[in-house]
Amino acid sequence: MAAAARVSCQGCGSGRAALRRPKTGQALCRGCFAAAFEAEAHGAIVAARLFRAGETVAVGASGGKDSTVLAHVLRLLNERHGYGLRLLLLAVDEGIAGYRDDSLAALRRHRARLGLPLHVVSYRELYGWSMDRIARHVGPRNNCTFCGVFRRQALDRGAALLGADKIATGHNADDVAETVLMNFLRGDVGRLQRCAGILTGGEGALPRCKPLKHAYEKEIVLYAYFQGLDYFSTECVYAPNAYRGHARTLLKDLEAVRPSAVADLVHSGERLAVRQDVRMPTQGTCRRCGYLSSQPLCKACVLLEGLNRGLPQLAIGKPGRLQKALTDARKSEGGFQEGSQQDSKATRTIDF
Ligand code: SF4
Repeated sequence: MAAAARVSCQGCGSGRAALRRPKTGQALCRGCFAAAFEAEAHGAIVAARLFRAGETVAVGASGGKDSTVLAHVLRLLNERHGYGLRLLLLAVDEGIAGYRDDSLAALRRHRARLGLPLHVVSYRELYGWSMDRIARHVGPRNNCTFCGVFRRQALDRGAALLGADKIATGHNADDVAETVLMNFLRGDVGRLQRCAGILTGGEGALPRCKPLKHAYEKEIVLYAYFQGLDYFSTECVYAPNAYRGHARTLLKDLEAVRPSAVADLVHSGERLAVRQDVRMPTQGTCRRCGYLSSQPLCKACVLLEGLNRGLPQLAIGKPGRLQKALTDARKSEGGFQEGSQQDSKATRTIDF
C-alpha cells in the first residue's frame, strides 16, 4: 500500500508520495490523498442530492473508524461548501461490556474535537434488554439478528426524538458489497433491491444516506490515520459468530484475485432490477409500537416478544413460528402483553 521511496506525488508533482491509493493505484502525498478523498465524498453528496440547506442531520456515530471519518468529513464539507446543515452525533448503546462502553469513550473524545452535540440512546431503556443479557438468553449464535433489528429502530427513534430530517451512516463500499452478497445468498429480493442505494427510506421512514458509499474501507483507515483521528478499532465480542463475517471473508478472497470486486459488487447491486411479477411486501405500521412494518408486528416487537416469553429462537426466521406459539399462548392468556417495548418518551438522551 505504501509507495516506494522517492516516488513523486501524481497529484501535485512536488511532494513525495506517501501511499498508493487502493482505489485507483495513484501515488499521492498526504495532502493530495486527503483532498481527493474529501472531493469524492462531496461529489457523491452533490450527485445524489443527499442534503438540502437547513436540514438537521443525525450522524450515526459509534466511535469506530467509518462513523468517525464520516462525522469529520461531513463537518468539514458542511463548512467548506456551505451545505447549511445542522449536524449532530447520534450513538446507540447496545449494552455490550468491553466493547460499546470503550467505543463510546472514544466517541466522546472525538466529539470534543468536532464540537458537535452527542446524544446516546440505549437498548436497555428502549427495549428493557441489553445485548449482553440477550446473548445470555439466545446463546452464541443469532445475536446480530437481534442487534441489527434493534439498532435500526433505535437510530430511527433517536433521530425522530431529536427532530432530525435525515440519518447519515458511515457505510463504506466494502459494507455495501458485503450486504449485496449476503442478500443475494439469502435470496432476499426486497433488501437486495434497496441495499445498494445511497439514499433510502421514504414512505413514512426517516431518509437514510451513506455519503461514504463509494469509499474503500482501506482508504477510510488511511484517511483516519493521516488526519490523526482517534477511533476505536476492537471488534465486537459477538462478531465472530456473525454471518456477515463469512461474506467479508468471501469478499476479501474475491478481491485478492480481482481488485475491483468491491466496486463491481456495489455496481451490480445498483443495477439490479426486480421482475415485475415478484411480490414485494406492503408497508404498514406495527400495531403495537407504530413503527413501519409489513407484518402486524414489526420485527423488533416480534423479537422482544420472543425474548420476554423465553422463546428467543422462535422469534428468528419466519414470523409464522412465533405466531403459532403466541396464538397457542394467547388462547390460554387472553392476548399479547402490550407495552413490552418501552415508551419512546422514556428514551433517555444524554446531552453533552
Ligand atoms: Fe451488534 Fe453483532 Fe454488530 Fe456486535 S457484531 S454490534 S452484536 S450487530
